[in-house]
Amino acid sequence: MDLSSQDIKFLPGVGPKKADLLAKELGICSVEDLLRHYPYKYVDRSRFYYLHEISEEMPFIQVKGQIIRFEKVGEGHNQRLTAIFTDGKQTIDLVWFKGIKWVLEKYKTRIEYVIFGKPSSFNGRYNIVHPEIEIASQLPPPEQMGLQPFYNTSEKMKSNFLNSKTIQKIIFPLLQNIKTGIPETLPAFILQKFALLNLTESLVNVHFPKNADLLNKARQRLKFEELFYIQLNILRQSKWRDLHFKGFIFGQIGHNFNTFYKEHLPFELTGAQKRVLREIRIDVASGRQMNRLLQGDVGSGKTLVALMCMLMAIDNGFQACIMAPTEILANQHFASINEFLGDLGVKTALLTGSTRKKARVVLHEQLRSGEMNLLIGTHALIEDTVQFKNLGFVVIDEQHRFGVEQRSRLWKKNVNPPHILVMTATPIPRTLAMTLYGDLSISVIDELPPGRKPIQTYHYYENKRQGLNQFIAKQVQAGRQIYIVYPLIQESEKIDLQNLETGLEYMCEVFPDFKISKVHGKLKPAEKEHEMQKFVSGETQILVATTVIEVGVNVPNASVMVIESAQRFGLSQLHQLRGRVGRGAEQSFCILLTDYKLGADTRKRMEIMVRTNDGFEISEADLQLRGPGDLEGTQQSGLPFELKIANIARDGKMLEIARNAALEILEKDPLLEKSENRILAQQLRKMVTNTLNWGSIS
Ligand code: ADP
Ligand code: MG
Repeated sequence: MDLSSQDIKFLPGVGPKKADLLAKELGICSVEDLLRHYPYKYVDRSRFYYLHEISEEMPFIQVKGQIIRFEKVGEGHNQRLTAIFTDGKQTIDLVWFKGIKWVLEKYKTRIEYVIFGKPSSFNGRYNIVHPEIEIASQLPPPEQMGLQPFYNTSEKMKSNFLNSKTIQKIIFPLLQNIKTGIPETLPAFILQKFALLNLTESLVNVHFPKNADLLNKARQRLKFEELFYIQLNILRQSKWRDLHFKGFIFGQIGHNFNTFYKEHLPFELTGAQKRVLREIRIDVASGRQMNRLLQGDVGSGKTLVALMCMLMAIDNGFQACIMAPTEILANQHFASINEFLGDLGVKTALLTGSTRKKARVVLHEQLRSGEMNLLIGTHALIEDTVQFKNLGFVVIDEQHRFGVEQRSRLWKKNVNPPHILVMTATPIPRTLAMTLYGDLSISVIDELPPGRKPIQTYHYYENKRQGLNQFIAKQVQAGRQIYIVYPLIQESEKIDLQNLETGLEYMCEVFPDFKISKVHGKLKPAEKEHEMQKFVSGETQILVATTVIEVGVNVPNASVMVIESAQRFGLSQLHQLRGRVGRGAEQSFCILLTDYKLGADTRKRMEIMVRTNDGFEISEADLQLRGPGDLEGTQQSGLPFELKIANIARDGKMLEIARNAALEILEKDPLLEKSENRILAQQLRKMVTNTLNWGSIS
């Protein structure tokens, strides 16, 4: 019985119209899809509460009692209906803002009802807004009601009478009928090893829990299954790659690396930089093709590590390249790499959208002949016309800025794929990294170069602006430079630009003696470059910008980062922006300016920013606050798969267990060919046809 090929249209209570809605709104087409549409929460209806037990923290309660009387207040849109409800001892208000006429017709006083909803308090009285009401005598006893599932629906579904209750009513008989056997999707040895509930039991209990304990066991099993297959999929692809591609071997540490290390390096490497270099050296000498993610906070010195890796490649007769997401950043890499290299004799070139055609032709030839050692550029370097003689090492800076497709094209620049180092300053929590890039090795630079003073961060409201201006003036007079950043969100680009212009005017008024640069996305690359350059060279003291400066820009003399409307930025973005300062020897400051009215989450974001400079702590907090889908670093592409039940922020332990289980199986049977692993191979095939093939890309 293959449930994935059974159309829901033919289920009792569904029919073509509802089937269509379910498919369009939730992607539910088959019986299997439906059974895998898990409730997002449960409500305990196994007992009645007394009104004196109520507190505002309770998510949902049910109470038995009667309506004493109705009171109507206000007119028209401001109308409100209140019913005074009692359990015999105390009273509570039931409140409606809509459907008042209907409520008055339907519900009567002195009938025993069960009401149900979320309590809140107003003016010292508890109330429930828009409660669910049922006639008590028509309900089964609470012991039989148990935990009630709630399903995700959409507005469109609700307005077509397809709500959570309807879904429940469709799934219930379905499970009763096929209880005898839903084909198991995990092999018996795994169920046994991890003491997991079988699939049938799990699905029955996730939809209609017999009790809290069984619900818990069901959820554990389904989470495990979900995470296990994601890991198995990624890891199997990486095994496959290992079997099919040889990695270039960088056998020796040669002249360029050694001379650079001994004579050019202007400072000691940090312990973390040394450790990461050792990790990479082992990889590139192993005969396996390296895919490594290098995480390190802004300013931790990733570029230098990347450069030294590229020197290893060059010493072994290969070419190397580094790709950055913006032209400004590519230029900066080009400048700093050349400064580092000095007279070493490594041939470098810059390739961006602004590179002239004539220069390009020459460059293309030099790349093909192998004369050019090291190419630095933007996505211009993935174009098909750019061909290397022997590309051996690729660095992708700020990797999350690139689309999957762009990254994959770099793979194809040599017969065997080059070693790949992707770098990010947006630390991705370990659990998320494992889920997203399970086959990437991960290196972390968790130590800043010595002598940096931690940035001091303050959260101010508008009323502190005068003081802030004085502070800015003092800093500029002391020779420092200032960033002022405005939010830029696509939908309201016009307004944002206006804010930036107004802000700029204001700054010019307040600081008539200071020179100010302006950078935003609407400028032409050349103009942007020009404005930016004035700030980099110190000609302007203040840079007013939108978030285009977020990535990588390095102006060590800048000591103040002012973020306007900070409430509109996510945590990771705030942290990235803050990383633009604190790069020199001077004490640096980050000022978060916000509205007075802040939601609880926003307030928390500001608190975290003020409290810590630790990028990993911040990204963990970001994950907890926003959930993985919104996390900077994944939001562009979204997670490559949808997690239906596991939660990356909370199920880290489970993820590790699932990953280890997958690894152990693949150790013995890399391509899942053994008969005991038949179910696994089958499930993977099903999964791969349904999702994007990420594993083969990075
Ligand atoms: P990231 O790319 O990780 O944000 P960068 O590579 O731009 O950081 O490094 C930031 C600055 O720190 C650069 O000016 C770089 O030259 C310097 N730097 C890197 N490593 C060290 C070190 N070990 N000691 C001192 N300064 C360093
Ligand atoms: Mg960098």
